[in-house]
Amino acid sequence: VIAAVHFSERRHAWAVDLGGTNTKLGVVDDSGRVVVQEAFSTCPGRGGDSWAEEAAEALRGAAARGGVEADRIGAVGVGAPGPLNVEGGVLTNPLPNLPGWQGFPICRALANRCGKPAFLDNDANVAALAEHWVGAGRGVDNLVVLTLGTGIGSGIIADGRLLHGMSDNAGELGHLSINYRGPRCVCGNRGCIELYASAPALVRLFKQKLRRRECAARKGRSVTAEAIFEAAREGDPLAREALEEVGRYLGMAVASIVHALNPEIVILAGGLAGAAQFLLDPLREVVRERTYPDLQVGLRIEASTLGAASGLVGAARLALREQSSQRWT
Ligand SMILES: [Zn+2]
Repeated sequence: VIAAVHFSERRHAWAVDLGGTNTKLGVVDDSGRVVVQEAFSTCPGRGGDSWAEEAAEALRGAAARGGVEADRIGAVGVGAPGPLNVEGGVLTNPLPNLPGWQGFPICRALANRCGKPAFLDNDANVAALAEHWVGAGRGVDNLVVLTLGTGIGSGIIADGRLLHGMSDNAGELGHLSINYRGPRCVCGNRGCIELYASAPALVRLFKQKLRRRECAARKGRSVTAEAIFEAAREGDPLAREALEEVGRYLGMAVASIVHALNPEIVILAGGLAGAAQFLLDPLREVVRERTYPDLQVGLRIEASTLGAASGLVGAARLALREQSSQRWT
């Protein structure tokens, strides 16, 4: 009887993971279990209000399919591309992912349609919450998550708190420079790590290596990051070389991150984390060479174990943690 009572008291949250191409959403319980999830095309061109209409409808449908009553759901958590304003629940300037959505009050739009308070944070911060809650950084007070995809984002938990900075833009670690004479970046800096260790950078590096080896047989085949991972797993030396080089570049950035934040764990997440088996050894080696020994004691550098679910899990964590404050009801 006690167990049954306990189960009936389990709380749930609605979770939304907004991307420029797809929106994932679902219901997550307070143990971090994704009860139901689904996805639809974001179609940013139609604007935020039309999107919010579809999202609210899909959230209600997900709750029904999962057999979770609406009164068991306390709030909506949203992870979205930045820059954004956490307190105001507004996407301030989500370019280039969501052109035309500048200033969209996403929390108000979802709260009005769902009848629950809604809470917002950027996708990398949400990933850090997920890792801290049920992932590789569970219970760790100082952690950094690097999301390695088309660009490089990051979420930082320092002394047990998610780091936001003055205007919620802390943790743009993709723009740590590893080369002051390197190529110019969109941010204004030169030689940002994002230009060396994102998925497009990996593809560029691999193609350069192909050209240098004049490997005619493989020329012209379309090269994607996933194709390079697969080739590396099959033993392709060029693919492995490219991934190891990316790992060393990441090591240079991680050395700076370790000096700045003294984390206990640095977690690789996002698409490129799928190739962590090739990235981690060279990465760790560079960190060993380039970091004060005292900061290496107890330091772990690992791949995320949450995979694609981390966006929903982290958004739910945000909702479950914040709902008592009842913003945007
Ligand atoms: Zn930059």
